[in-house]
Amino acid sequence: MEAVLSVKDLNVVFSGFKALSGVNLDVYDGEIVTIIGPNGAGKSTLLDAIVSKSPVFSGHIYYHGKEITNKSPHEVARLGIGRKFQNPNVYNELTVFDNILLALKGAHGILASITSKLTPAKKGKIYDVLERTGLIDQAFDQVSSLSHGQKQWVEISMVLAQDPSIVLLDEPTAGMTTDETYMTGEIIQSIAKTHSVVVIEHDMEFVKQIAERIVVLHQGSVLAEGSVQEVQSNPKVIEVYLGRETINAAA
Ligand code: ADP
Ligand code: MG
Repeated sequence: MEAVLSVKDLNVVFSGFKALSGVNLDVYDGEIVTIIGPNGAGKSTLLDAIVSKSPVFSGHIYYHGKEITNKSPHEVARLGIGRKFQNPNVYNELTVFDNILLALKGAHGILASITSKLTPAKKGKIYDVLERTGLIDQAFDQVSSLSHGQKQWVEISMVLAQDPSIVLLDEPTAGMTTDETYMTGEIIQSIAKTHSVVVIEHDMEFVKQIAERIVVLHQGSVLAEGSVQEVQSNPKVIEVYLGRETINAAA
């Protein structure tokens, strides 16, 4: 089976500093891949490189077998790679519905999308997305009135509205309550029924909830890869990453 996304021997260099060295990653249809690793491991940089937010020094990125390395961020998004960044980037003064409307594929700027005709197809699409992300009852609430967790779901909804086939999420549960974190896991599992999902995450409870395959990054390279059990029992992973968590938890 051909991978939806394939990263081959990827190197990203920031003024002499190797943020990623020889990273390989394949993501298949409908799969959830979770990326873990210490701060500074290169997790966000990997997603940045995939969506051309950071320049690739060498290596290749393929989407459905077609090379997309260093294509423009706009082109990468247009092809079907949706990316949610670490901080929510939503319009607080607009309703949830209007935020999603703005994000719909083909929307060009606030004015154009708000004043363009709201067709039944667009409306249906927005409701479908909000149903999935659990925000249907908040559709006409102003985003500023939502909880931090709900704002994150608005942004996930905005990514889904762009009809990606693969969704990249950078620490989607950051700052969430335990309940919101659990709900986010449910949302991601629902998204994975029709999309491939790559999630960067710190919270190991959450990782266990959603993870099918885990990739551990460390100092810009893949340190280990496998199931939750495989990764948790890997001595190298315990040493550089999970051990610290155990120490933190005990402190
Ligand atoms: P993670 O998401 O795993 O915490 P990052 O991918 O954000 O790590 O960062 C990996 C390393 O690359 C860090 O040392 C970080 O300081 C560096 N880095 C990330 N982005 C840039 C940039 N735009 N310019 C210079 N250095 C960067
Ligand atoms: Mg990061």
